[in-house]
Order: sequence, then structure tokens, then C-alpha cells
Amino acid sequence: MKILVINAGSSSLKYQLLDPDTQEVLAKGLCERIGIDGKFTYKPEGKAPIKEADVAMPTHSEAIQAVLDALVNPENGVIGSMAEIDAVGHRVVHGGEKFATSVLIDDQVMAAIEECNPLAPLHNPANIIGIRACQALMPGTPMVAVFDTAFHQTMPPVAYTYALPYEYYTNDKVRRYGFHGTSHKYVAGRAAAMLGKPIEELKIITCHLGNGSSVTAVDGGKSVDTSMGFTPLAGVPMGTRSGDLDAGILEYLMNKYGCSIKEMLNILNKKSGVQGISGVSSDFRDLDAAAKEGNTRAALAVDVFSYSVKKFVGAYAAAMGGVDAIVFTAGVGENDGAVRMAIASGLEFMGVKMDEAANSVRGVEAVISAPDSRVKVLLIPTNEELMIAMDTAALVRA
Ligand code: AMP
Repeated sequence: MKILVINAGSSSLKYQLLDPDTQEVLAKGLCERIGIDGKFTYKPEGKAPIKEADVAMPTHSEAIQAVLDALVNPENGVIGSMAEIDAVGHRVVHGGEKFATSVLIDDQVMAAIEECNPLAPLHNPANIIGIRACQALMPGTPMVAVFDTAFHQTMPPVAYTYALPYEYYTNDKVRRYGFHGTSHKYVAGRAAAMLGKPIEELKIITCHLGNGSSVTAVDGGKSVDTSMGFTPLAGVPMGTRSGDLDAGILEYLMNKYGCSIKEMLNILNKKSGVQGISGVSSDFRDLDAAAKEGNTRAALAVDVFSYSVKKFVGAYAAAMGGVDAIVFTAGVGENDGAVRMAIASGLEFMGVKMDEAANSVRGVEAVISAPDSRVKVLLIPTNEELMIAMDTAALVRA
């Protein structure tokens, strides 16, 4: 089966054509600067990437047409015709409370996704544009929506309810939703496979640590709590996002500097996190390098991040009444052994014992705890595209 996975943003679109059964990626790439000056990247399996600038892409439609043309191109294409694409899986950021699983897209589903737009005004409209563009170019090909929020819909009220007047939940849908669900679900499933145990019997804490970061408690295969909230601004500090914050700070700073809520949110989303603390970079490679050269703010930024993740790990072990495995994934989690060590060390009291040598690996599935560690610590590269393709294939087959 061949599934085209589409992740559409407001001016960009990532794509991958893959076979969920063999897990083979046939081609992947990126359309950037849609509506501006169109940049196109296409990488067929086993060949060098092809990059083109100034590709006419006034809308997502032309971008997807460029993807389809590249896939069937006689020279570098990987399929004979578009008919070989069995289905398209679309990443959709917000499914609200309407979607607890991935779904086959029809008119009703489209309307329901549109109703979630106010919850993710920057992301959902772009996702919808991507779906509509595909529908127009590939009529008759089944389309599936895979939501970032869906995996977390199993959270109980005690985990998703904010201590606000309850009407804000009932009338305005203000609650914890959580994000990165596709990644948390994928790595939790892989963790169970690596441990050789049914996921139903495991308590797992998954740490998706990238540019955006979130930590999830997965009990018996179900998300029971997660660090991101109503928006992806909540939880641990991130590359440029503040994470959890005393809301009183907003009033204080807005009054002092006369800034609007829009300006304040721009600061919290784009100028905070480890970038804000360090003043150096949002990238942990730069922070690690600066810290090694004696930059104390860079070192503090990494410490604040690791400390925050550690606290969520402790909190979720308490929430689940124990933990069998802790998983690290995404850019920082997969590559930064020092950060993993900082998070997982000092947790010996709860049965976590790291293995220094095992933890020196990068970007491969590995057990990084000591053989006698009661809680297994795992490194698992995430693969959201594969998860989307697997969900899409399962729905289309059903
Ligand atoms: P992601 O959002 O999952 O793509 O993660 C991107 C982030 O991963 C970057 O901003 C870096 O902070 C981090 N990262 C990537 N490679 C490394 C590395 N070798 N060492 C430390 N951090 C890394």
C-alpha cells in the first residue's frame, strides 16, 4: 500500500510517500514559501535531493500539484501514475473533543474540523487548505485526518479540567487538549514492542523533546495526562516558548511596558524558552557549545529545561502510581545525551538507573538504562509520518 502523508502549514507543506507495511519511504520533501516565491525540495529514496527555487506556487494547490508531478516524473519519479497512491493521510493539529481517533474525511468531518478552527487559528485553517487542495487534485482517493490532539482524548476530567469557572469549559471548550499525540502514541507503541510486553500492561512516560516539547503519561496504552494544554504554549519550557507560567506575570509586564496581549503572546511564543533565558539560541546544539565555553545563561537555560522535564516525569509517575519505562524522542531527546542524563539522573529513588555508555548513542532505538534499572529508559526516534500512514492504511482497509 502506498500512502501520501501531507503536513500542511500556512506557507509550507511537508510530504512523504511511504508504504506503511514495509515502512519504506519512497520519496519525501518540502514545499516552502507557498504564496511567496515557491521553493520545492524532492528526495526520491536512495537518490540525492532535488531542490528548485522560484517554483510557481501561489496556493497550496500548485504545491501539491508539484508534489504529484515529481512523484510520477519519468526521470526521478517513484510511481508510474497517481492511481498508485492508495490514500492520503493529513496531519491536522486540532480535533477538539470531536475526534478521539483518526477518521476518513467526508463533508461532515470537514465541517467538524472547521468548527475546531478557533482552537488552533494558526494551524487548522492551513491543514484544511491542504486537504481541500488534495481533494480537488485527487478526487476519488480516500483522505484521512490524523489529529495531534486525538491520542490525548482519553485523559480523565481530573487531568484536563482547569481550575477556572466551569462555564469556560462547558461554553467555551477551555480545557487541556495536549499535542504531539501522534508522536507520543508512536513511541509508546514502540516502547511496548521493545520491552516485549502488551502495552495494556505498561505505564510509560514519553518525553517528546524537540523545538516544541511535551511530556505524556501513557497508562495501558492510553494518554492519561500531558504537559501541553489548551494550546501548545503550556508545559515545559521549549526552544522559544515559555511553557507554564504564573498568569500574573502577564499583567505585570503588560502594565509596565504598555504592551498588548498580542505582543505579550508573541514574546511568550517566540522570544522565551531556552532562547529567552540564554539570549543565545533556541537550538540545544548552540546552547551546549556556549555552555562549554563558559556561558552561564546558556547553561542555566538547559538546566531549567531539564529540571522542568524531570518534574513532569516525577508528577506523572505519581499520577499513574508507578512507571515501567521512560522514553526520550524528538530532536533533543534523540540527540542530546547530556540532557537525557540530566533529566533521568537523581531518579534512582524511583527505580531509574542510567547507563552512561548506553546513553552515548544518538538517533537509534536503544535501551539507555542500566541492566538492573527497574524502570527502563528508552531512546526511540519518533516517526509521525509512519504513524499517520499506519492509521490511514488501517482506516482505508476497514
Ligand atoms: P525537532 O523539533 O524534533 O525537529 O527538534 C529540533 C531541535 O532538536 C533543535 O532545535 C535542536 O535544539 C535539537 N537538536 C537537534 N540535533 C541535536 C543534537 N545533535 N544535539 C542537541 N540537540 C539537537
